Amino acid sequence: MNVTELARKLKIPTKELRQVLPKFGFDIGLKAIKVDDRVAKKIIKDWPMLRKKLKEEEEKEKEEKEKKEEKKERKAVIIPPFITVRDLAYLIELPVTRVIEELMKNGIFVSLNEKIDYETAAIVAEDLGIKVTQGIVDSSEEKEIRDLNKLKDLLKEDEGKAKPRPPVIVVMGHVDHGKTKLLDTIRKTNVIEEESGGITQHIGAYQVKKSGRIITFIDTPGHEAFTAMRSRGAKVADIAILVVAADDGVKPQTIEATKIIEQAKIPMIVAINKIDKPEADIERTKRELSEQNIIPEDWGGKAICVPISAKIGEGIDNLLEMIFLVADMEKEKITANPERTAAGTIIESRIDKGEGPVATLLVQAGTLKERDFIAIDNTLYGKVRAMKNFQGKFIKEAPPSMPVRILGLRAAPKVGDILEVTQDIKSLEKKIKMLQIRARPFPKKKGKREIKKLNLILKADVTGSIEAISEALEKMEYPEVRIQIIEKGLGNITETDMLHAKESDAYLMGFHVIATPTAQAIANEKNIEYKTYKVIYELFDDVKEKLEKLLEIEIIRQDLGQMKVLAIFRTEKNSMIIGGKVMSGKVEGGAKIKVIRKGEEVTQGNLKELQIAKQNVREVGEGQECGINFEGPPVIEVGDILEIYKEEKKERRLG
Ligand code: GDP
Repeated sequence: MNVTELARKLKIPTKELRQVLPKFGFDIGLKAIKVDDRVAKKIIKDWPMLRKKLKEEEEKEKEEKEKKEEKKERKAVIIPPFITVRDLAYLIELPVTRVIEELMKNGIFVSLNEKIDYETAAIVAEDLGIKVTQGIVDSSEEKEIRDLNKLKDLLKEDEGKAKPRPPVIVVMGHVDHGKTKLLDTIRKTNVIEEESGGITQHIGAYQVKKSGRIITFIDTPGHEAFTAMRSRGAKVADIAILVVAADDGVKPQTIEATKIIEQAKIPMIVAINKIDKPEADIERTKRELSEQNIIPEDWGGKAICVPISAKIGEGIDNLLEMIFLVADMEKEKITANPERTAAGTIIESRIDKGEGPVATLLVQAGTLKERDFIAIDNTLYGKVRAMKNFQGKFIKEAPPSMPVRILGLRAAPKVGDILEVTQDIKSLEKKIKMLQIRARPFPKKKGKREIKKLNLILKADVTGSIEAISEALEKMEYPEVRIQIIEKGLGNITETDMLHAKESDAYLMGFHVIATPTAQAIANEKNIEYKTYKVIYELFDDVKEKLEKLLEIEIIRQDLGQMKVLAIFRTEKNSMIIGGKVMSGKVEGGAKIKVIRKGEEVTQGNLKELQIAKQNVREVGEGQECGINFEGPPVIEVGDILEIYKEEKKERRLG
């Protein structure tokens, strides 16, 4: 029989048949054209069984391969000393329910927002087959994880109801390569026309319209918080533009930017800028990009490169076209549900002398409306009193992807904060309760020395001060007491700050800010401790003093002398009058007494009154006889030895 005919009968490609038959002992050879009829018969007869075996083998192979890959992929996950169950689940990439279940198996009952310590987390993770190591995740990183989770949660609700929204673009690259210039040029030439011809305001982002389509650009200011803003910029953006100057090529911040973009898992368009300059060398720039594994399309790679000049406006239209092209490829991801309550990320925040706290929100889901109540991290930040778009025009509604300046906030949020609209204050209060549960410390293990904590809330005028002060405070480390800055923020001390201080038993400090009159009133009414400072060292001194108050008081015992009991004059319910002789040292009024009989302690008490011949005295010396009023259990007998000593309480100081 022809092998092809046999293959047809068995419904399997000829080539495959040739490959599998030897496995089952039919050695027909890889190039065989004909098979012996008897062999063919046997093969046909055995085929159902062989096929089953084959399938099983294939599956086994696949499984093993998957297992291997899984093992290869899973590096040790870094876990901080304390982590919420939710964050742990996020880090080890398993559903929260799975983690909680595993915790329960270990007899630990916690909610998803409660913190567990590293040892517990490690046991659970390892039970789940995940390798972990302990590492310090700094609090900002921890917050970032939390924010990402939150944003994910917020956006997940929208599956099925999502509609296309404008793409959000972030521009990154090395300093002086022309990011600002590019953003300016795009804004000037393509800004959405307004009848009123509004003046463009800098609010950290703007929108342009091109061929009837809108694009949002994140317009990050300056280079101060360069890295922080950049990474956050990437988090809110759908597409990144990497600006590389053709006369300067790939530089350290270019490389850093590509890493951030890669981590953010968003597509990138390379804008090769400054091509108007005589020194511009596009080919060299492309070569340098290739060395970073960014291979331009015309070099056979995947990187979209657009030569531009931000200065003379060349290639800008082309760049915008490319943005649309990439946005179209990503269109499944660039969506949001405009119908729901709004959520988004704060991209700029400051305190305006006239307007108070103002912040720019990039709406990422839902539509923000006037009079919406807004919350950040489960804290009420107030009501949207008014909204302005980037052209300074008052607007009533802000749909997804729109940057909008919010007026009427009670406090200035932080850049990168996730803002949510809350339907009702009631549910927010519930959330605050949840937060308090989360803040409750993990039950300490027996035998471990308890470390006392001083909770602090810090408000200051500028971010620089906040960072400097908190950095210095965090360095104040002692074995027995610790500082915990539970909140820090910009601006005057508000009533919310006061209430937080009260709720969390924290000491509230202001640096170069004041407490608003309402806040002061609340502080008075509720007896909340706070203080404002102008000098940084005074602040540190106060914190240190507060820490010292937390230290256990040291008790120093000072032995005075010994007295032998010679007579009992009177015995009352809680006291005795005793006569005796000072054997050594001295006896003093107000001292403490330990009663010793046959070398063992019988009881303890206080020495109330001291008399010699019925005259009150302060002190009785060695060899003298005296009477004392003993306050304590009335069990003293003649012949007992009284050890007389004093105890001094000593407040301790930190080194
Ligand atoms: P950034 O630090 O990346 O924001 O860079 P800037 O936008 O501030 O640009 C740095 C300098 O390069 C400025 O002096 C710009 O005017 C200049 N520059 C930016 N783009 C171009 C360009 O396309 N051609 C030329 N000749 N100069 C440019």
